[in-house]
Amino acid sequence: MDTKVLIPTEENIAYAAELLNKGEVVGMPTETVYGLAANAYDENAVEKIFKAKGRPQDNPLIVHINSMDMLNDLVENIPQIAYKLASKFWPGPLTMIFHKSDKIPLAVTAGLSTIAIRYPSNKVACMLIEESGLPLAAPSANLSGRPSPTTANHVFNDLNTKIPAILDGGPCEFGLESTVVLLAEDKVILLRPGAITLEMLKEVVPNVEVNKGVLHQVADDEEVASPGMKHTHYSPRANVCIIDSNFEQFKKYIEAHKDENLGAMVFDGEELELDVPCVTFGDEDDSIIQAKLLFNSLRAIDNLGVDRIYARMPDVNGIGLAIYNRLIRAAGFEVIQL
Ligand code: AMP
Ligand code: MG
Repeated sequence: MDTKVLIPTEENIAYAAELLNKGEVVGMPTETVYGLAANAYDENAVEKIFKAKGRPQDNPLIVHINSMDMLNDLVENIPQIAYKLASKFWPGPLTMIFHKSDKIPLAVTAGLSTIAIRYPSNKVACMLIEESGLPLAAPSANLSGRPSPTTANHVFNDLNTKIPAILDGGPCEFGLESTVVLLAEDKVILLRPGAITLEMLKEVVPNVEVNKGVLHQVADDEEVASPGMKHTHYSPRANVCIIDSNFEQFKKYIEAHKDENLGAMVFDGEELELDVPCVTFGDEDDSIIQAKLLFNSLRAIDNLGVDRIYARMPDVNGIGLAIYNRLIRAAGFEVIQL
């Protein structure tokens, strides 16, 4: 089966919705990254997601909805704090963890009694949910371990022949996966940073705890709050290492290690001062652009023909925390401080 890449006309969205109702999987744009969607009520359809991606069976999926009514059907009870966050950040790039209802098969939640839910703002995603009438389980539409897809072409490169169709909604607005939070009575626990930043969450719920796994490697035998924290992520084929330094020091480091068949991942303009193969990921002072370009740059590294990549350290404030969270995973937590 060749994968069809479809412009999201009404007709094509209706066709994709029909595929979903028949138990097939479909690549869809969202404002975060492209998702690989299936009917969240259909265990067989959900298993097709895991198979196409090669996703570890213990890594649960996020379910996408387009109304608070749909939420009621999927979860056991909705804490007050969830209404507060939903009224501020939904539709948008925030995922909340709830207790799941019996209607959702355990394949979606990887056996957990909790379920991750998000109400996306992307128009095509919302139209697909509406047209299919289904909550859609959808992880990022990449092969497991690879950088998440931010264009339909990325999805096609990873999943061609494995899925029937992709709706091409153009490049994703944010380019990083959603913020994931766990809800407690009087606080929120940040499990994965995203475009809804720590600072933005704190404006709604003053007490936000950042889970240790956000910035630190979790040992194999350690319990994790979010199974995804354990898995290898976002990796180009070359070995990535972050250099925490200013550009002058970075440049000297690159010059001293030239015998390594290396390349560099740098901010715009810096490539002009280096004579090794480079990819750039935006203006040093613009975290929003860096977020948007990060995964495309990580994918572009594969075309450089290098074995090792040294990457510049992003600013970790605002959405920068999410950029750093993805980059340290791409780097297998290897950071050199100069
Ligand atoms: P992806 O869809 O590829 O962006 O990955 C979904 C992320 O959400 C993974 O990191 C999961 O571990 C996390 N997640 C999904 N469901 C749950 C849950 N019930 N509890 C905690 N984390 C979850
Ligand atoms: Mg993913």
